[in-house]
Amino acid sequence: MLCTHCKHHSCRQLESCGAEAFDREVVRKEYQDPAIQSAVQTAAQLVDNGRAGTLNRLQEIIEFARGSDYQKIGLAYCYGMEADARKVTELMRQSGFKVEAVSCTTGAIAQDEINTASSIHNVSCNPLGQAAQLQSTSPDLVVMMGLCMGHDILFQQKLRIPMTTLVVKDRPNSHNPLLGIRDLYEQQVGLTLPR
Ligand code: SF4
Repeated sequence: MLCTHCKHHSCRQLESCGAEAFDREVVRKEYQDPAIQSAVQTAAQLVDNGRAGTLNRLQEIIEFARGSDYQKIGLAYCYGMEADARKVTELMRQSGFKVEAVSCTTGAIAQDEINTASSIHNVSCNPLGQAAQLQSTSPDLVVMMGLCMGHDILFQQKLRIPMTTLVVKDRPNSHNPLLGIRDLYEQQVGLTLPR
């Protein structure tokens, strides 16, 4: 399936194109699960009735967490974003949540300890320890903030907790990957896109 290059988009008119590899009736039934209904309805409240675009991502996370009756938020952040992570912690606490904020360098483990191909003895990101530390605090929701590419995958693989991303790390683009997509597309495809 390559929906990105579809010429018909019949799905947007509520008409199946028949290319799905899943049973639509099974999926419809899955949505009836009360926990899934709760998440679907809470998510809808963020965007329905003209609200789409009125909340930034942090406001959406806070409102979703409130709507889900979450009490404790685990913030997994990159130490390079600590000043902003501190602001996020304070804003979440002011919004009534308990917060556990864990840096990627938790555990004070060196690069040559986690990477058998490295001889660098500086402190390393430690996504497995970061995940274990947050798991130990039993958060209702985990929020990722700027974890490195690859470390984020290890972090997510280790946790089975509702999880969302507040910030995606993209150093050359002020952490806005859409800018990088546009630039790379222009370079590789040779088209100049409208600004
Ligand atoms: S109609 Fe089918 S192929 Fe086209 S975008 Fe929808 S699901 Fe994808």
